[in-house]
Amino acid sequence: MDINWFPGHMHKARQAIARVMPSIDVIVEVLDARLPLASRNPLLRELQGDKPCIRVLNKSDLADDTVTRAWLDYFQREEGSKALALCAKNKKEAMKVIGLSKKMVPKRDYLFKPVRVMMAGIPNVGKSTLINTIVGREITKAANQAAITRKPKHIDLKNGVVLSDTPGILWPKLEDKHGAFLLAASGAIRDTAMSYPEVALYMANHLLGRYPDLLKKRYKLKILPEDGLQLLDTIGRKRGCLVTGGEVDPYKVAELMLRELKNGVIGRISLEQPH
Ligand code: GDP
Repeated sequence: MDINWFPGHMHKARQAIARVMPSIDVIVEVLDARLPLASRNPLLRELQGDKPCIRVLNKSDLADDTVTRAWLDYFQREEGSKALALCAKNKKEAMKVIGLSKKMVPKRDYLFKPVRVMMAGIPNVGKSTLINTIVGREITKAANQAAITRKPKHIDLKNGVVLSDTPGILWPKLEDKHGAFLLAASGAIRDTAMSYPEVALYMANHLLGRYPDLLKKRYKLKILPEDGLQLLDTIGRKRGCLVTGGEVDPYKVAELMLRELKNGVIGRISLEQPH
């Protein structure tokens, strides 16, 4: 889904979340485990007030386990919040959100007064997937665009939890260039002025610094190139991403590397570390 986030859209999205907030007990902030800070919009913390919040580090199946554990510690330290790392496609893992939501609203007769939960976050972090996995059917197909205009409905899970069928959608922060590169590499932003080769070069340097062994394995490299530019050149030659004349096509190799990074075929990679 590509929304161009003009100020008018941002204003409506903010209003939509603010409107449902009074009817919500627990907010589930869905983040991408590979880039939890870049995939966060700080506005949610402002909108949530003092409501309990679960920070979900989703897509943890694509992230580096050691780094995800460090992120869990980081988010657990935030007041009023708990953190979970999971894969939204996995039912057992997704249901942990429901169990934890109940624990976060204690002293309550859940059957008579269920806990009302809403997923929120920027596009593409996995909010709809998480809702669908928990509910067990496709609920939020067109909900992303509709969230801004449609009145949210509630789904009674009949286990003491009521889930908003419409995620609270926030916009990605693009002012910070580093974060914007990470969002582009994760697939969270597409339709932007960012150039693929530039994003790929940024990632190539990141991977050389952090995950040299995964690169060696994936691209069958005996010796690692010295920098990102050389790495992309080597991958381009090995994989036939060439223009006529034999030079490496920067767009083709960028697309190939970013696709493999996004799909997890290079390995489990985290793009951000806690400070
Ligand atoms: P939303 O925009 O936040 O509602 O995101 P979606 O639920 O539409 O998910 C965006 C993309 O991420 C889809 O291609 C999903 O299949 C994928 N996705 C969501 N959750 C996970 C996850 O935990 N692991 C992996 N590998 N992919 C996921």
